[in-house]
Amino acid sequence: MDRVFRSEEQPFISEVIAVDEFLASAMHARTRTQPACSSSTAPSAEVDDDEDVDERVQQFAAFAGVSDEVGHELAALCLPESLKCNDGIEADDRDPFVTQIPDVPLVTLQIRKQEVQKRAQNPTYKAVGMRTLKYDRVDYKALNDNRNTVIPKAYTPPDVILTITVMKPYNRPLDHHEVRLGRLLKADARFLVRGQQELSVLRDRIPCASDYALHKDVSENPQSIHPTDFSRDLHPSNFLFFHDTFYVDSRKEKSTDLSEGVREWARRRSKEIGPFRVADMARTRFSDLRLRMGQPYLYLHQGSCEHLIVVSDIRLMDVEDNQDVSAYPLSILQKYKKRTACYGCKMYTAKWVTYGNERLPCDPTFFCEECFRSFNYASGEKIGSFKAVPFFDRTALST
Ligand SMILES: [Zn+2]
Ligand SMILES: [Zn+2]
Repeated sequence: MDRVFRSEEQPFISEVIAVDEFLASAMHARTRTQPACSSSTAPSAEVDDDEDVDERVQQFAAFAGVSDEVGHELAALCLPESLKCNDGIEADDRDPFVTQIPDVPLVTLQIRKQEVQKRAQNPTYKAVGMRTLKYDRVDYKALNDNRNTVIPKAYTPPDVILTITVMKPYNRPLDHHEVRLGRLLKADARFLVRGQQELSVLRDRIPCASDYALHKDVSENPQSIHPTDFSRDLHPSNFLFFHDTFYVDSRKEKSTDLSEGVREWARRRSKEIGPFRVADMARTRFSDLRLRMGQPYLYLHQGSCEHLIVVSDIRLMDVEDNQDVSAYPLSILQKYKKRTACYGCKMYTAKWVTYGNERLPCDPTFFCEECFRSFNYASGEKIGSFKAVPFFDRTALST
């Protein structure tokens, strides 16, 4: 795939990272800095005695390759008191998007000026630009709730945390104007996952309404639905694709390898694409992956529902991170607030959808439970001609 994307030439795509090798090198770097920074132990609010401080400053100076004198100078400059503003300084509450940029002949500033003006004049352009920022729609409450309030002295075992964004799915190529409006890469879910977790834990948390589609009309007897009638159980085949490998989900009996056709197709075009490998997602951990940050990968299920997946960060786990592996994958994207409301009462979220309803002007029509029963049935008998299936609003899908 790297040849197709020209990954080496893209500024937003990293080099290939072997996650386990990253963990080993990051742990090595941490071990080297430990004596100077005490990064694996809890930061203490208590004031150390002078001798202790001297020793730590000397260790830091030796690590940083500077003299003890410079080390002491840096320690004094970096005291929390030095970082405070003087009294009387007023907070700068100017909007950074309308801040005046000095009129000097620097090309970077001229480009910045044009960008700021464009954002100020065009709210849609500004919104699309903001959406690509790293912290757009981050659920800070989820992040803070997951933080350790009681910091342990040390933590085990060492592990990495990956930030993975799952994009809104499409089952067709988007039109040119849709891509221009930024619909191709619209974040649908974002998770923090641990390196020691299997890929299948991520697959189980990806929300998608197509897993809850029902391919039969139940208007005659809405009570007849069984939980196993939905697509999720009828068509459980799916795979995740990272770098050069299809990680197939074979946990369910009915599962088939959806990547087989793609791999066969790629074999016939071996000069343009591939080679690809295949592995079991339930037996592969995130720490086993080789991947590029910033490169779009794929989660495919229900035959043609494609979700692009982007790994945007890999970092060493810290003492402040929740040490409980069961807390991951941790959802850190704000939930959607837009929902499909009931056509009848315009108040409750839709739970049913009818097709070809001859007593209604629009098709399809969405109903809440109460309106669906009261409008379409009399004494339990169906009124008129229509087809009905349950509807799962995406705000109801938990991540
Ligand atoms: Zn989907
Ligand atoms: Zn209603």
